[in-house]
Amino acid sequence: MDIKRRDFLKVVAGSGLLLAAGESPAGAIARPPRTMPDEAVGLMYDSTICVGCKVCQKACKVSNNMPPEHTQRPPEMIDALWDNPADLSEYTLNIIKAYKNGNAEVKNREDNGFAFIQRHCMHCVDPACVSACPVSALQKNPKTGVVTYSKNACIGCRYCQMACPFGIPKFEWDKAFPQIRKCQFCDHKFAEGGYPACAQSCPTGATIFGPARDLLAEAKKRLTLKADSYYDYPVQRIDSGNRVKQKVASYVTRVYGEKEVGGTQFIMLAGVPFGRLGLPDLGDRPDAALSEGIQHTLYKGMIAPAAVLAGLMYAAYRSTKNDK
Ligand code: SF4
Ligand code: SF4
Ligand code: SF4
Repeated sequence: MDIKRRDFLKVVAGSGLLLAAGESPAGAIARPPRTMPDEAVGLMYDSTICVGCKVCQKACKVSNNMPPEHTQRPPEMIDALWDNPADLSEYTLNIIKAYKNGNAEVKNREDNGFAFIQRHCMHCVDPACVSACPVSALQKNPKTGVVTYSKNACIGCRYCQMACPFGIPKFEWDKAFPQIRKCQFCDHKFAEGGYPACAQSCPTGATIFGPARDLLAEAKKRLTLKADSYYDYPVQRIDSGNRVKQKVASYVTRVYGEKEVGGTQFIMLAGVPFGRLGLPDLGDRPDAALSEGIQHTLYKGMIAPAAVLAGLMYAAYRSTKNDK
């Protein structure tokens, strides 16, 4: 292959120009982020009106046929009837966690206060797990945007676990034929005209289901409400006539999931900063757009690796050709 020194230097110079322009080479080759389908469905969790009853957590277990789990405790304190998981696991797809600070006297307050937070799959608009899976065992429904999993396609590589920026997919380590487990938005209930069990069971409207765009509009509306005023919060579904009047807390002015990693179909509101509630502070760009962009650009026809190798071989040849 006849690669001229000038051509090799052009590649290096091109990278340098991108850097000089304030654009990383990786940023320049990231593919455009995917957008949310028009009919995308979503869930919204409002921490300020969650009472920590964990009914959603239990309903999730029932809906997904999951066994109870026990937090590690001294044997005399273990009650086999309890479902008291410490975190998300292959048996717990939805968890309510508590935040406490100081004397934990006031709800929805960062200092000397407490709050609750719900964790499960965010159903990312541009999911890294789907992008990382080499056999398409994880798929994003093109109509609803729900991210589902096929145990028949999965080869157990666990790339999805490594790729997910929220640490959601869990692996069944104790099974002979293990699967990945994560919330699939109660996908099995849609076929019967149902909707997620967590939203269906929540008594306060802290978790509600609906079209993703309507939920985002509702979230933004709540951020304009005056603290200590009263608001009719929808219960179960955003379009249900079932509403409960509740006192408005002081919101953190951020809809978590509106922009994070390109947006998510599970969005959250809270009265305590999301970082204190254990949520990662992520950028707007989806990891999937960057990793796919790099792969597709770098390995397209193996042109770039071949050019780099040829350049290195040329440099080695030049520096050794007069060496006896
Ligand atoms: S939160 Fe993780 S598992 Fe869920 S869709 Fe996003 S990347 Fe996939
Ligand atoms: S949508 Fe279904 S699987 Fe997902 S957290 Fe809610 S109840 Fe659990
Ligand atoms: S059911 Fe509703 S109020 Fe109870 S813990 Fe779950 S989200 Fe909070």
